Amino acid sequence: MIEVQFTNDLLAWYDASRRELPWRQNPEPYSVWVSEIMAQQTQIDRVVRYYERWMEQYPDVGSLARAHEEDVLKLWEGLGYYSRARNMLKAANVIVQGHGGEFPTDYADIRGLPGVGEYTAGAICSIAFGQSEPAVDANVLRVFARLLDLEGPVREAKGRSRVEKQVRALIPNDRAGDFNQAVMELGALVCTKSPNCEDCAVQQYCRARDAGTVSQRPVLPASKKTVRITMATGVLVHEGRFLIQKRQPDDVWPGLWEFPGGGIEEGETPEQAVVREYMEEVELAVEPIQTITTLVYTYTRYRVTMHCLLCRFAEEPREPVFNEAVEGGFMLPAELDSYAFPSGHRRLVEFMKNDKTFDALFSDI
Ligand code: SF4
Repeated sequence: MIEVQFTNDLLAWYDASRRELPWRQNPEPYSVWVSEIMAQQTQIDRVVRYYERWMEQYPDVGSLARAHEEDVLKLWEGLGYYSRARNMLKAANVIVQGHGGEFPTDYADIRGLPGVGEYTAGAICSIAFGQSEPAVDANVLRVFARLLDLEGPVREAKGRSRVEKQVRALIPNDRAGDFNQAVMELGALVCTKSPNCEDCAVQQYCRARDAGTVSQRPVLPASKKTVRITMATGVLVHEGRFLIQKRQPDDVWPGLWEFPGGGIEEGETPEQAVVREYMEEVELAVEPIQTITTLVYTYTRYRVTMHCLLCRFAEEPREPVFNEAVEGGFMLPAELDSYAFPSGHRRLVEFMKNDKTFDALFSDI
């Protein structure tokens, strides 16, 4: 076990060095919840920008519960992992309907909200309510894997449980939230992937530093291989409008909007794939007339190459039949900004806004 003096030294460092973040000024359960959900998988600078916009639009649970999913997704656009936003909307409704609109204070009730895992429940309980619950995220696992010099994979059940036990033993009753945030802050600012041990306020407690094993900690599972995907997306323009469609609830990126398209099959060119996808998805015969751009981006462990093709009707224009979407239609360029797109399609919209080919279409925006 690490000495209890560790807690005092860590908190002294936190008091002197912590970043001023908007949700730290007056930590309410709602603000802690919003910030913690946003901070998953996202850089803190981005979180601050999104957080401030979010709190302006949805300052409390009630306003969020009344929101339309479409608007929530639009506000979330660019943060990725959209299930987080959808779950927040569901959770707000659970709080309004099941808890009279008051954020629950009990760990089990908070943990039971849609999208709230052990880490988030621990963060809300400790930061907003001062309860002595650990909040163990990837930062905390990394820090404690080094402090304890853990030889096993820290993200697996045994390693995680060892860290949780240690954190629980160290949490001071009077500053539970600060303690959890202090460990996370140490992981974010000092004990990073390439740690700055010389400036570390708790270096004297660090077993990995003593043993010379810092660079080998934490022990991580073998990384999953990147999967390469090649897609073709068609931008059908008709009478100054773009065809877009809304993805289905059980699809990847449910509820987001996109230009029709899909994976390129073996032996197909991007043009052939777009023609086939349009026929399958919206029953329209289209003709690709030029390449707009080719975008390359990463989504979780997928490396996506997306060929984006400008298309026109290959025959007499007619209404699309949305076989693989909830709804859709031809939208004016100025309307595209009010729809939430997955990142690849949003990048395509932004590319078109800045491309001479589309000057005339976007000139009114
Ligand atoms: Fe991390 Fe280095 Fe501090 Fe140990 S001494 S906790 S490895 S920054």
